[in-house]
Amino acid sequence: MYSSIHFNAKPRAITNASNPEVLEKLRQIVGAENVLVDPDKVEPYGGDAVKEKFPPEAVVFPESTAQMVEIMKLANEYVFPVTARGGGVGYTGGAVPIDGGIVIGTDRMNKIVQINADDLYVVCQPGIRTFDLQQAVEKHGVFFPPDPASYKDSYIGGNIAENAGGMRTPKYGNTKRYVLGLEVVTATGEIIRTGGKTEKNVVGFDLTGLMCGSEGMLGIITEATLKLLPLTETTSTVRASFKTMEEACKVLTKFTPAGILPMAMEVIDKHCIEAIEQNYAFGLSKDAKAILLIAVDGSNEEVAKNAETIERILGENGGFDILRAKSKEDEDKLWDVRRAISPSLMKFGTLKINEDVVVPRSKVPELVAKVEQIGKKYNIFVANFGHAGDGNIHVNFMCNREDADSIARARLCVSETFQLSVALGGTISGEHGIGYVKAPYMDYAIDKPTLEIMKGIKKVFDPNGILNPGKMFV
Ligand SMILES: Cc1cc2nc3c(=O)[nH]c(=O)nc-3n(C[C@H](O)[C@H](O)[C@H](O)COP(=O)(O)OP(=O)(O)OC[C@H]3O[C@@H](n4cnc5c(N)ncnc54)[C@H](O)[C@@H]3O)c2cc1C
Repeated sequence: MYSSIHFNAKPRAITNASNPEVLEKLRQIVGAENVLVDPDKVEPYGGDAVKEKFPPEAVVFPESTAQMVEIMKLANEYVFPVTARGGGVGYTGGAVPIDGGIVIGTDRMNKIVQINADDLYVVCQPGIRTFDLQQAVEKHGVFFPPDPASYKDSYIGGNIAENAGGMRTPKYGNTKRYVLGLEVVTATGEIIRTGGKTEKNVVGFDLTGLMCGSEGMLGIITEATLKLLPLTETTSTVRASFKTMEEACKVLTKFTPAGILPMAMEVIDKHCIEAIEQNYAFGLSKDAKAILLIAVDGSNEEVAKNAETIERILGENGGFDILRAKSKEDEDKLWDVRRAISPSLMKFGTLKINEDVVVPRSKVPELVAKVEQIGKKYNIFVANFGHAGDGNIHVNFMCNREDADSIARARLCVSETFQLSVALGGTISGEHGIGYVKAPYMDYAIDKPTLEIMKGIKKVFDPNGILNPGKMFV
């Protein structure tokens, strides 16, 4: 039995994937060395960043679209669950095979097929790491804007399937904005091609958009054509402290009248500041009860001018200890504070229930104030930080893994926070997706008729319900 914070404990499922005939056929498709069945070897593929384990019966590593087609045909013939996996660093259990079956590891499908800087696109396989793709295209004077903080571990396939965001989302948007076309193997083993290589393409329904954020439930992405942008000349970061979180969050809307759209606007609350200082001693002001980090990009001239205006606006709106990076190294040091949050928070508990609610950015002050009250009501410590510029706040309810009562109270906090976000005009996830962790809350955000359409779409793509079962809908 595997214990679970988010899910009732259940025994490891045994499906037709364990049938020796099926395992033999899988070995014939991808080669014996690319099929794992040994419990020790499959165990790591049973979890993701949620840190709960539901090991699959086998892990299979295809290296081509043709092999993927064969696997899906086999899964339909014998009817067993198939869960695609990228880097396995999702925060909602999307890649976790909770109903057993096989996991398809995309690690061997990690090639860049073509970089075309003239036409501003790159064609790649799903198993390439986000960071590796970014490095490769930047050598050609172009860049791929989506930048989840997990970019050194996450894969492009996982980013597309989760429609991942990141620090640069306020200006550049989530992954979906950069997906021009996809090759997808459907649950029944057909190959479909969506979109194309051009920004403009309005032929038929937008299946590319539908695949973005589909969490491995509609098909397996085997190739992606992604939009690139010209590399910007430079960036600059400004950091300011505030006496209250509310004051810090109120500044978020003040840059628009000045004609500035910052690339990143991150906020850090007093609990995070305290935790970071204890762990890393960055020398943050003792009076700082909230911090804003704001980054701009563009030409040298534009960036210098905008950074100066941002400093002024921060100062006029309660910001103090305002620092502007003078060099790339300085800039990295300012961002080190942001990167230090997650590990530092573990001082407040052995279990961090990390949510990623999103509201219109003008509602962020109200969201964080009310989330504090929810934490107090249930006696759960709460720390907030995140992508305030696009209204996406990481609300962290801290409890202890061994303390069932604190976990139950934290789950009540989660439920109330989701209701609050929806009431404020937002929703329950800005970038982490639903997976199995947030599946029980889908109807907070999506009404019944809309949910029924989604379920109908799932049926069209996956009539036998074999692709990533147990996710999104419960
Ligand atoms: C420290 C940390 C920081 C993070 N920061 C961010 C952040 O800033 N922004 C953000 O958006 N997220 C963030 N995340 C969450 C996570 O990294 C993202 O959701 C990321 O996109 C997951 O990528 P992955 O390759 O690990 O996908 P996985 O976790 O392996 O899979 C995620 C989903 O994609 C599906 N999938 C994977 N490959 C394919 C494929 N080829 N075809 C179809 N479906 C597929 C899986 O079935 C699953 O449903 C963070 C996570 C951690 C641990």
